[in-house]
Amino acid sequence: MNLSDYIRDVPDFPKPGIVFKDITPLLADTSALQHTIDAMKVSIAPLGVDKIAAIESRGFLFGVPVARDLGVGFIPIRKAGKLPWRTRSIEYELEYGSETIHIHEDAIQSGERVAIDDLLATGGTMAASVRLIEALGGQVAACSVVIELGFLNGRQHLHGHDLHTLLRLD
Ligand code: AMP
Repeated sequence: MNLSDYIRDVPDFPKPGIVFKDITPLLADTSALQHTIDAMKVSIAPLGVDKIAAIESRGFLFGVPVARDLGVGFIPIRKAGKLPWRTRSIEYELEYGSETIHIHEDAIQSGERVAIDDLLATGGTMAASVRLIEALGGQVAACSVVIELGFLNGRQHLHGHDLHTLLRLD
């Protein structure tokens, strides 16, 4: 299956000059959705991880079914003001401006984790998630995304962590 058939390019969204990779056609197609979740699961399974951590909000769409299929738990990484318990946070730079993400302080116990998001662009969000998990004493076995925008070279920010990509767009 060619996953790129299910990704819609939306020019100038959410701001001029950005080509937004819309995954809603992939989500809407039974085979494409199952193929995507199965492929992520198959690549992560050999790592023997204990938890899947995923990044709000599109990361959740893949993180929860992969966690369920692997029989492991799920950790949400969320934007400011969303998690109700005590959190640890990290601020990082986006292309324009900055963003803060949070994780519950008690979300990290011993064991290996995989961090999941829908798309790796500059890599800032994924790199910040890895730092957040590691700041709480966790280990990240790998990072996993559906789409990698290869021309932005976001993987350079992952500092030695494996990146699993289903669809690389250059
Ligand atoms: P980054 O931190 O630059 O790697 O951006 C990653 C996050 O922003 C992901 O959670 C994506 O959902 C979103 N994102 C960034 N660029 C795009 C794009 N061109 N199309 C769709 N989503 C994007």
